[in-house]
Amino acid sequence: MTRPFRVAVVGAGPAGIYAGNILRTRAAEAGIDVRIDLFESLPAPYGLIRYGVAPDHPRIKGIVTSLHDMLADGAIRLIGNVEVGADVTIDELQSLYHAVILATGAQRDAVVDLPGLDLRGSFGAADFVSWYDGHPDVPRHWPLEATQLAVLGNGNVALDVARVLAKHPADLLTTDIPDNVHAGLVASPVEDVHVFGRRGPEDIKFTPIELRELGEVPGVDIVLYDEDFDRVSEEVSTGERRAAGNQAKVMARILQSWRDREPTGAPRRLHLHFWHRPVEILADAAQGEAVAGIRFERTEPDGQGGIRGTGEFVDYDVQAVYRAIGYRGTPVRDVPFDERAGVVPNDGGRVLDDGEPVPGLYATGWIKRGPVGLIGHTKGDAGETIEKLLEDHALLAGAERPDEDAITEFLTDRGVRYTTWDGWLALDAHERALGDGFAGEATRERIKVVPREEQVAISNREVIAR
Ligand SMILES: Cc1cc2nc3c(=O)[nH]c(=O)nc-3n(C[C@H](O)[C@H](O)[C@H](O)COP(=O)(O)OP(=O)(O)OC[C@H]3O[C@@H](n4cnc5c(N)ncnc54)[C@H](O)[C@@H]3O)c2cc1C
Repeated sequence: MTRPFRVAVVGAGPAGIYAGNILRTRAAEAGIDVRIDLFESLPAPYGLIRYGVAPDHPRIKGIVTSLHDMLADGAIRLIGNVEVGADVTIDELQSLYHAVILATGAQRDAVVDLPGLDLRGSFGAADFVSWYDGHPDVPRHWPLEATQLAVLGNGNVALDVARVLAKHPADLLTTDIPDNVHAGLVASPVEDVHVFGRRGPEDIKFTPIELRELGEVPGVDIVLYDEDFDRVSEEVSTGERRAAGNQAKVMARILQSWRDREPTGAPRRLHLHFWHRPVEILADAAQGEAVAGIRFERTEPDGQGGIRGTGEFVDYDVQAVYRAIGYRGTPVRDVPFDERAGVVPNDGGRVLDDGEPVPGLYATGWIKRGPVGLIGHTKGDAGETIEKLLEDHALLAGAERPDEDAITEFLTDRGVRYTTWDGWLALDAHERALGDGFAGEATRERIKVVPREEQVAISNREVIAR
């Protein structure tokens, strides 16, 4: 009788779940009896879908349903609340499995060099996103005290952050935001949210759906500046960059429709600025170390597809600055990590150490190729990684590995309170019931439970100590 081929996937975000599912399908086609365990450091699955995607993006629910279906029959065993590299080392994991796939994604902000970064009121988008999505490992309170604020970046995360900051909290009540987040947003005195991009309107990295929805936020006027568009036409006249295709045309049309709109006098405004390179976050000496403004150098096209500074500087009075300039991969202790690129070095998914493949170790998703791209892109990644793993199957499968109870016994001996798929179903049902029981005017699909202890206790049906 052949022994099962045992694979651990680390990270239950979309990349890890797609990898598990593709492995299961392709292994079956190849006649390989595979057993897959999916490790997750949080008590609940879905990675950035639960703790990154904005709460007012309900269309993601379709993806969650399909990921749910991939795990529902138990063929991929979820083992949550286990941090690989801390609760179990990578060596220990490799001694229990024939192969390990890292799908640890990216949870932190990219590092930037900008004077004033440490001032009070200067925030990374990842921290703010984690707060509004109810991540268990960030503080429950967020200081929303600014009336004028700046968001740096021209990608979808910048749009999410700007939209959540500008939106009237009543319009978020139908979502799954935790109570503390709703209360924080209600108290926010914000009036103007300024989004700044270093390049021009035709270089934005937003996707059309995300851009369009910005213009549909009730009680918020969009403000654009003619001077930013004058610089575009200069560059566009070279003809080359317009080749960007239909998506660029759609975005240009959306921006133009906003320029044609009359302001409604709404109580909140969302300003989109282009050709602004941040130079320094400014402090007000009288305010201690708090943000009091931000200085930019205006930029312009350099005629070769890039930008250059114009030597013209401009200051904005803001009391908070949010940097949405990218995420950074989450390394695992004792696993090779490329600090510069923020990824696990790999060749098509085979993890490399000093350029050589590490036997039985693979990577997929954002930790494999960097923190760019939508959820759907992680599926293609996973396909490539699984192809490599199955090419190596014959080499790996000969090793002696213990049976599937070994890991749960190991975790129990170590005192790790791991969660399971059934536990997630219990937590999911609990959160939906909280939404049903909501006494406000809006119908809420769920209200997220935030504290880790409480999530684990509900998942494991333990009595919660108060
Ligand atoms: C703010 C934001 C908004 C987004 N909005 C959208 C959107 O609206 N639509 C869309 O299509 N895409 C969106 N994306 C992109 C999408 O989230 C990513 O493409 C996708 O989540 C990447 O998947 P992943 O599995 O590689 O990483 P992740 O989703 O980050 O999953 C990685 C998982 O690994 C776990 N993990 C990490 N380290 C360990 C460890 N040591 N041990 C065990 N587990 C570990 C993490 O807890 C996490 O659950 C957004 C991204 C961000 C940052």
